[in-house]
Amino acid sequence: MSTLRFKVVEEASNRKAVPVEVTPERPERYYAEKVFNRSKMFEYLPKKTYDALVKAIDNKEPITRDVADSVAEGMKRWAIENGARHYTHWFHPLTDGTAEKHDSFIDHDGKGGVVEEFTGKLLVQQEPDASSFPNGGIRNTFEARGYSAWDISSPAFILGETLCIPTIFISYTGESLDYKTPLLRALNAVDKAGTAVAQLFDPEVKHVNAYLGWEQEYFLVDEALYNARPDLVLTGRTLMGHESAKNQQLEDHYFGAIPSRVEAFMLDLELECHRMGIPAKTRHNEVAPNQFELAPIFEEANLANDHNLLLMSLIAEVARRHNFRVLLHEKPFAGVNGSGKHNNWSLGTDTGVLLFAPGKSFKENLQFITFVVNAMAAVHKHNALLKASIMSATNAHRLGANEAPPAIISIFTGSSLAKILDLLENADSDRLTDLATKERVSLGLAQIPEIQLDSTDRNRTSPFAFTGNRFEFRAVGSSANCASAMIALNAAVADQLNMFRKAVDERMAKGSDLETAILEEVRKLIIESKAIHFDGNGYSDEWKEEAARRGLDCETSAPKIFDAYLSKQSEEMFARTGVFSRVELEARNEVKWEMYTKKVQIEARVLGDLAINHIIPVATRYQSMLVDNVVKLKELFPGERGNEIVSHDLDTIERIARNSSAIKAEVQRMVRARKEANNISSEREKAIAYHDNVIPAMEAIRYHIDKLELLVDNEIWPLPKYRELLFIR
Ligand code: ADP
Ligand code: MG
Repeated sequence: MSTLRFKVVEEASNRKAVPVEVTPERPERYYAEKVFNRSKMFEYLPKKTYDALVKAIDNKEPITRDVADSVAEGMKRWAIENGARHYTHWFHPLTDGTAEKHDSFIDHDGKGGVVEEFTGKLLVQQEPDASSFPNGGIRNTFEARGYSAWDISSPAFILGETLCIPTIFISYTGESLDYKTPLLRALNAVDKAGTAVAQLFDPEVKHVNAYLGWEQEYFLVDEALYNARPDLVLTGRTLMGHESAKNQQLEDHYFGAIPSRVEAFMLDLELECHRMGIPAKTRHNEVAPNQFELAPIFEEANLANDHNLLLMSLIAEVARRHNFRVLLHEKPFAGVNGSGKHNNWSLGTDTGVLLFAPGKSFKENLQFITFVVNAMAAVHKHNALLKASIMSATNAHRLGANEAPPAIISIFTGSSLAKILDLLENADSDRLTDLATKERVSLGLAQIPEIQLDSTDRNRTSPFAFTGNRFEFRAVGSSANCASAMIALNAAVADQLNMFRKAVDERMAKGSDLETAILEEVRKLIIESKAIHFDGNGYSDEWKEEAARRGLDCETSAPKIFDAYLSKQSEEMFARTGVFSRVELEARNEVKWEMYTKKVQIEARVLGDLAINHIIPVATRYQSMLVDNVVKLKELFPGERGNEIVSHDLDTIERIARNSSAIKAEVQRMVRARKEANNISSEREKAIAYHDNVIPAMEAIRYHIDKLELLVDNEIWPLPKYRELLFIR
């Protein structure tokens, strides 16, 4: 049921989508109408089944076959009533996005007709023929089977006319082939470890949940212009294009008025989100022209991530309805801001305490500082890994390139938190016991003034910022699956919390009281992880030098950044937390390197084709027009006077010739570099060769094409320019 539809109307040369049917329905009527959530479960399942399912979800336990059969029956009834004809196990392979294989509900009825069927077996587990998904060599060809299994913690939903069942995807031998499996493992690890530490403060705590609130940035481009740019169509970004005379220098786009055509799109998208149970809340313009953001209310991390993946498919579909194309690429346009996906992350107890939020009493604040400092220590220890977790061929254009955040992970705390960390660090050791009791005020923990969001949020140059009651991992790329960052972060923090609990227990076994033991350990961590704390300007060159001195990972080459997954430190951490085995880590890195190579390879091919078959012929055509003109002018004005008249044209001819021949030479260099790289058998070495040898040639080609764009007649330039792409009317 649609409450609002749009149609695109042409108004002079202005196209816009206008609402044609508006009903006065409010969100509470249609919110989550396409989701088999608890209220639908309650309505469609027998009481016994409902109770068993809810108990299993809450206690993170498996369900029995009987329960599964009964759930399947109710779920099918709901799905069919809501127009579904197919069902699919919806999973997150190691590519971008999601995968589905649709099966219809129909089966023979034995009388020549069909019935619609759906059993517990089909709901709970399937064996998709998954040999075409990246697996990094885990599945031998003789055992190409993969299993997908229902993740009962994430509710099923209807997309179009298909019932989608969120599932994990693993190999025959049990290795994960997706993002969801390790994410669930990491969330489980941080639950256990976090609970053990939270129980130091409140024995009633039974679970610690990780929360994720993502902020999705994206660009919109008019569909007709998009279709006229083969680079956008094939690679998601512009491989060439001179900066528009006006782009973001007036800073007039951020929070500016939203163009009406875009507003109609946003409203439509928001309604779709709400129907799918995605709590979309905030929408606004971003810094760059045509750049926007959508953010939901934060949710439990696994569900939030499913919702982000769902949003990424919804947004593409809704954009098309409005004759837009959405660009989720991290850097679709050179010279203007790229797109990220800030991951707002926090931990909270099942008793309702947000563990990164300061409280009102000494005890609450000691707990707050304990969790904050442990998170900082984990980020410090695993800064190289966290960088690897957000790195990709596409995000590489954003990080450490022309635009920050830099390719160095550091934490911004803001001055209020920095002051507390300082006090604790410098507290005299002999007096810590005293401080824990008598001198709480001087410790800064008796009362922590509400840490103002606005004072902590302003440093936009930091890749990882404390923002009052959460951390904001800002280096995540706009096209990424957030799970990658959430796996590394939650696993690292889980491991750190486990060590912390152990260390506190040991101090207490030696006779220390609880508060002193905690304070001693907290202080130790503050001192050990000091290097990660940086509140200055992350964009500056001095920071790069300083970070190197501090021993933070400063590698900028994406294929080498991936190495961090295979370091001894990462391997041991992932093994201790049960998130990844060595085999899985190796397989995943193979996939990362392969994906990196493929993306650059496709871009290089598209660029070569555009350069040789689109740009050079047009430049040559214009050049001969000028040559013609020069010859004729010289006939008309012989001698010195003629020379003077044609001198400007001659200069242009020469510049076109120089740029054109540079392009041809660079294309040759690029093709050679590609051929050499393709002959390398190691995926890592191949990716490095693409990074080191192919990309520089691509950059040189672009440089010369962008010069030609300024020289060649606008009338015959074959591609829409930035000024057309970037300003929606
Ligand atoms: P800004 O752009 O100023 O950072 P937004 O309002 O755009 O802020 O986004 C903030 C995001 O952080 C939202 O998705 C919000 O739900 C999320 N968020 C707020 N508090 C928490 C928290 N404790 N844990 C996780 N996410 C949170
Ligand atoms: Mg933010």
